[in-house]
Amino acid sequence: MFAHNLLKTARAKHFNLKSFHTSIVTSFDVELTQVRYSNLKRGKYSSITDKHISFFESILSKSRVLTDAADVESYNVDWLKTVRGASKAVLKPKTTEEVSAILRYCNENVLAVCPQGGNTGLVGGSVPVFDEIVLSTALMNEVISINKTSGVLVCQAGCILENLEAKVAEQGLMMPLDLGAKGSCHIGGNISTNAGGIRLLRYGSLHGSVLGVEAVKADGTVVDCLSTLKKDNTGYHLKHLFLGSEGTLGVVTKAAIQCPPKPQAVNVAFLALDSFENVLATFRLARSCLGEILSSFEFMDCDSLMAAVTRLKLQCPVPEDTPFSLLIETSGGNSEHDEAKLSLFLDEATNKGYINDGTLASEPSRIKNLWDLREGITQSLSCDGYVYKYDISLPIEHFYDIVDIMKERLKGTPYIKCCGYGHVGDGNLHLNITAPSFDRNLLNLIEPFVYEWTSKHRGSVSAEHGIGFKKTGVVHFSKSGEALKLMAQIKAIMDPKGILNPYKVLPGDPH
Ligand SMILES: Cc1cc2nc3c(=O)[nH]c(=O)nc-3n(C[C@H](O)[C@H](O)[C@H](O)COP(=O)(O)OP(=O)(O)OC[C@H]3O[C@@H](n4cnc5c(N)ncnc54)[C@H](O)[C@@H]3O)c2cc1C
Repeated sequence: MFAHNLLKTARAKHFNLKSFHTSIVTSFDVELTQVRYSNLKRGKYSSITDKHISFFESILSKSRVLTDAADVESYNVDWLKTVRGASKAVLKPKTTEEVSAILRYCNENVLAVCPQGGNTGLVGGSVPVFDEIVLSTALMNEVISINKTSGVLVCQAGCILENLEAKVAEQGLMMPLDLGAKGSCHIGGNISTNAGGIRLLRYGSLHGSVLGVEAVKADGTVVDCLSTLKKDNTGYHLKHLFLGSEGTLGVVTKAAIQCPPKPQAVNVAFLALDSFENVLATFRLARSCLGEILSSFEFMDCDSLMAAVTRLKLQCPVPEDTPFSLLIETSGGNSEHDEAKLSLFLDEATNKGYINDGTLASEPSRIKNLWDLREGITQSLSCDGYVYKYDISLPIEHFYDIVDIMKERLKGTPYIKCCGYGHVGDGNLHLNITAPSFDRNLLNLIEPFVYEWTSKHRGSVSAEHGIGFKKTGVVHFSKSGEALKLMAQIKAIMDPKGILNPYKVLPGDPH
């Protein structure tokens, strides 16, 4: 019989992304991007002057135009503290009309702009590279409507994902996406990065659940594609241009999202396994036994799990030397039915020798304790100093090979951890290598090798985090020359002066 003894005594401490210090590195300690990447040339944009500031103050009021260096600094540095821009101004519009007026003016004056949501992006896309003006959506946080019957939420782009989750829950609904950064990330940022997260397996990608968007083009034109309809085949599906284009084609200002009903019964199993073969066998079994109630299938190796356990001081629900752990979540409408299915699955997985140990939770606080372990890995790893992060999609049979290959390759270097975790159900591995600080030689050992290896196995060099600033040089490993050319043509049509998020997504000079 499956053992679920451990959780009964587990009382993990809760952690909060906002108050969590990723490391002792302060924003001002982070090397300027233009220094670290010294080959990069600033585009031929105007520099911001007092005249420009006066204009922005005239449309937004003084309090929503930040120019004091101390106020601006946190908007210049990414969440991982790996890139740092030198912007001198942050603009905080509240309405679409204000975004439109800002962009029209910036376009006319050739001022570069970096759109920013919650600034939790992991590829350096959300902060300036040089002195681009930061356009923050932090004050665009209004929920416009929630239709209980259709399940459609309409809101402004700056709403924080976790707040939306709470708001739609009042109507018996849930957000179709969830991720570890939910306490800080904005829905506009999620849409702009086409964020995946921990429930993509069940609810699909945002390309399906975002019904409509409103966005402002570089010249200030408002593009209203804010359909709330499930079916709308009237010409080109323009909303998709804004999904995953990371602020390079327009600023998303509003969104309409299809929210599924909130499940009545949620169960989580946290399991210990000996080998990656058993992870795959358990995945196959979970898909056939759990079917429609399977909502997450998350994986972590020993170093990833132990980083969260030790850094966040959480209780480990499996033996501490467990090579691989799985967090499997089911959600459905009938607890008896779901528990019976889960129980059968766990018994079969135990009898077949796939799983050795584990724990089961159905009470919300206990479920949260288990999810904290998985969701806390990203921030725990950054406590080591510098994290080389790779977010790759791979055919499932090669999912973990690269972690072992990389460990071998990095022997004798000053790396601290080389570990893997991620969304097995989506074939998405987060390969993380930590070191005390940024080290160019270590980087050269990892890259381009990791991308070449991924490309050779027909994987993607960015499964869900996007291209941002850091991956522009490797996008060709996953996109053909023709596809890249078409992307550049679309960019040229939508933003001919290249003012929107330059140096991001597209390889080459901004304009
Ligand atoms: C702990 C942690 C866990 C994470 N887990 C996941 C995960 O499971 N899955 C996943 O996909 N990602 C994950 N991420 C990455 C990140 O949270 C997502 O990419 C998220 O969608 C970014 O949202 P944001 O509001 O913070 O956007 P930002 O970081 O502010 O911006 C991201 C990009 O979108 C652009 N942008 C932001 N808002 C707008 C807008 N309104 N209009 C146009 N462009 C805009 C920015 O210019 C930038 O290029 C995680 C990050 C952390 C720190």
